Amino acid sequence: MAERLHKGEKVLRGIPVSAGVSRGKILVLDKVRHTVTRRDLTEAELPEELNRLEKALLGTRQQILEVQRKLADSIGQDQASIFDAHLLILEDPALIDEAVRVIQTDRVNAEHAFQTVAERYAGALAQVDDEYLRERVSDMRDVTGRVLNHLLGRDEELDLRHLKEPCIIIAHDLTPSKTAQMDRQKVLGFATDIGSKTSHTAIMARSLRIPAVVGLKDASEELESGQYALLDGYNGVIIINPTDQTLFEYGQLIRKQLTLEEKLRDVLTQPAVTLDNHRVLLTANIEQAGDADAVKSSGAEGVGLFRTEYLFINRDSLPTEEEQYEAYRQVALALKPHPVVIRTLDLGGDKFLSHLHVPTEMNPFLGWRAIRFCLQQRDVFGGQLRAILRASAEGNVKMMYPMISGLDELNQANALLDEFKQELRQQNLPFDEHLEVGVMIEIPSAAMVADSLARRSHFFSIGTNDLIQYSLAVDRMNEKIAHLYEPTHPAILRLIKNSVDAAHAHKIWVSVCGEMAGDPVLVPLLLGLGVDELSAAPPLLAQVKYLIRRLKLADTRQLAEFALSCESPTEILARCQELAQRAAPSLFEK
Ligand code: PEP
Ligand code: MG
Repeated sequence: MAERLHKGEKVLRGIPVSAGVSRGKILVLDKVRHTVTRRDLTEAELPEELNRLEKALLGTRQQILEVQRKLADSIGQDQASIFDAHLLILEDPALIDEAVRVIQTDRVNAEHAFQTVAERYAGALAQVDDEYLRERVSDMRDVTGRVLNHLLGRDEELDLRHLKEPCIIIAHDLTPSKTAQMDRQKVLGFATDIGSKTSHTAIMARSLRIPAVVGLKDASEELESGQYALLDGYNGVIIINPTDQTLFEYGQLIRKQLTLEEKLRDVLTQPAVTLDNHRVLLTANIEQAGDADAVKSSGAEGVGLFRTEYLFINRDSLPTEEEQYEAYRQVALALKPHPVVIRTLDLGGDKFLSHLHVPTEMNPFLGWRAIRFCLQQRDVFGGQLRAILRASAEGNVKMMYPMISGLDELNQANALLDEFKQELRQQNLPFDEHLEVGVMIEIPSAAMVADSLARRSHFFSIGTNDLIQYSLAVDRMNEKIAHLYEPTHPAILRLIKNSVDAAHAHKIWVSVCGEMAGDPVLVPLLLGLGVDELSAAPPLLAQVKYLIRRLKLADTRQLAEFALSCESPTEILARCQELAQRAAPSLFEK
């Protein structure tokens, strides 16, 4: 619900996910997509309107057949056959005849007639007491959207790579793949109705340095394209028609931030070492090969997490082994001799291949995701393993598996890795014979059996984003339960401690690459728990380093000791805030 601060302005509050302030005209995406107006026709116009509908149906059919063909080539006939249902809808005589009848008897334009009839069908299907039929509703809407795009002469979807002018994007939701397409020069910021801090959309926004606010509930309904707004990614607000007074206050905030950024620049070339001389390895999380420059200028000592799935999305086919090899090699060479930890494909959850059309799952984060997908898609996984192995000959490459739930998966993945190593040896293709292979600890079961995983791996990387969602049963995407997503929950701290202790007992190092590692409030706690490395988005690293250089390891250990004996997440968080603010007050003036 909007509130008003100064006269004439409207303020909507959500969850701040990517720092920064931007101002400009807004563009409301979902409204752009759904507006279909009714136009009354004369008798003479009817034949042409029927002709338009027929052409749109034919065009849509061609388009679906094309998508299906690409899919069959890249991933197989089984997945491609999902589109048979879409083709059947297009050929459904009841639907088409009814749309034709509405055009003729109501004398209305084809898009209005088709949308009305298709919506009526979808609504009826949604009421049916049969799960299979209910699932056809989304097929129905998908096909309807395509037909309407043809009739309206619109591109499939608004392409965020080619916006005409700079704007603030407002949407009900944005997928990580859509966010990855954003042109930083044109997208001044974005705000969505749903989402939370650790969704991949939010992570991508931070990485692209695009100010963003999520969880605004009904912003996409309330706001109109063309309105002038100020988006505050520090505090999670969007202000429509900001007054001069508001703009003046924000001017001051921006100046404060610029002063802080200047201070932070000073630490870029300094080591991440505490006042009592404890060295921490600070590395970067990246999503694309092109991010290597940002890593260098962030003062990071390498990459702690390369999320490779972004090489696979926003395209019509899978990347070849060669393309992947080039991407991994490029990053490894750019950052040599620093390490680059490449994570194998983590598709599923909220990241899908646009052309793969994996069947909808009831619980995608508990479903066919990451290593589970890779172990069943041997060709896809094999191409990536070979590419990573080959890149390991060129720089300091390490590799890790996401979503390992127990020993079996680690063993299966390693067995495949051995097969591909053997293949490369036979082909005389060089790779690092001592490639270090790590395990992501992001499922509670992995944290519980950390000792057996530690015995068989070279390092751990704790993915707190998923570890928290799975341990506390809190969907990391859902703004309605964002308050339950508590990194300082005693259960989380015990799981982290158990993993760190198991790793150190087996003489392997532990990194944290979830968003906790980039949050200055939580960094002291992680250090106190014994974490050796922190990996975060490049824009967050300077403040983390600034803080580390003002901390004493002894104090962080005391904090961790207190936290492990405390029963209240809120009390633990308060202590964390106290220590971080005492050490570096200027980081918290927002
Ligand atoms: C995590 O889960 O903490 C993690 C780093 O992986 P991702 O955010 O890509 O799921
Ligand atoms: Mg994860």
